[in-house]
Amino acid sequence: MGQLNSFAQFTGYKVYDKIAYGRTNAIYFNVRFLNFGAQAQVFAFVKSGSGGDLGKINAYLKENCKQYKTGGAQSDGRAVSFVINSMTRVKPENAARIIDDFSRFLTDKGYRSTCAFCDQNNNVGHTAQNGLVLETCETCHEKFSGIVNDIQQERDTTGSYAKGAAGAVLGGILGIIPWVLFYFAGLISALSGLVMAFFCYKGYVLFKGKRGKGMLVIIIAVLVVFTYVSVLANQCITEYQYYAALGYDVDIGALFSTILAAPFMPAEFETGLLWGQIGSGLFFAGLGSFFFLRKVRKESTGQDVAVKRIGRDLYS
Ligand SMILES: [Zn+2]
Repeated sequence: MGQLNSFAQFTGYKVYDKIAYGRTNAIYFNVRFLNFGAQAQVFAFVKSGSGGDLGKINAYLKENCKQYKTGGAQSDGRAVSFVINSMTRVKPENAARIIDDFSRFLTDKGYRSTCAFCDQNNNVGHTAQNGLVLETCETCHEKFSGIVNDIQQERDTTGSYAKGAAGAVLGGILGIIPWVLFYFAGLISALSGLVMAFFCYKGYVLFKGKRGKGMLVIIIAVLVVFTYVSVLANQCITEYQYYAALGYDVDIGALFSTILAAPFMPAEFETGLLWGQIGSGLFFAGLGSFFFLRKVRKESTGQDVAVKRIGRDLYS
């Protein structure tokens, strides 16, 4: 049995789209397993209003879950979240026990879960949204769906792919700088790939690119082109330094434009070697930006705002 299902059995939670959700004592939780089961991310739906409380929660986690390094709880106003870490695999029964203890701690502190948007505690159902399952009353669910539909409609009718592409290209140009700096600092290019993907995305959004299926395609295309440019920029600087050390006066602009075309000139250059470097650059760019691009894909298909009412089971 999978980790998540086994966890759901220990707790009596339900499972929807890789999330286990349910109540332990008076606290409503969402739990998902990450990184091949080495981490469990826990969301306790309590509105921690006063800032001091988060400190107390962190102190509790630090004291009581030492072996799982669970410090660093965060609150987004809706839920307090933290991560249970394991060197290998978080045991479902351990996660269940931690949550049981934690729910007691919270109820002792006077916390009770209510609808994610208001203080209602009766007749709450479930709303799935952006990877979480919220407890919501019918009224708030309707309001929330309305807002989300407005956002979706606005996305469908505003922005343009051309503007977005221009912004992504600008982001790609900026992304060359960290790529080159990281390369000469001897850092892995997965990090460069992530930074470049982030710049392309930011550029796309700032230039009011259209949120649609083309968004991901544009960002990936720009990422591929500028990974190519960045790898060859490193090559160009290496060669420039080489010639400069020999005392030649090199026009770096001319050198760069030659090198940019070099992978397509097998008669003059070692194209196999260059393509090898470009290939490894692309590999690392893909590796570094994989999870980030998944987020972009969700955004481009509207999955990040899509709202779904699931289950009508009610707590009394
Ligand atoms: Zn409500």
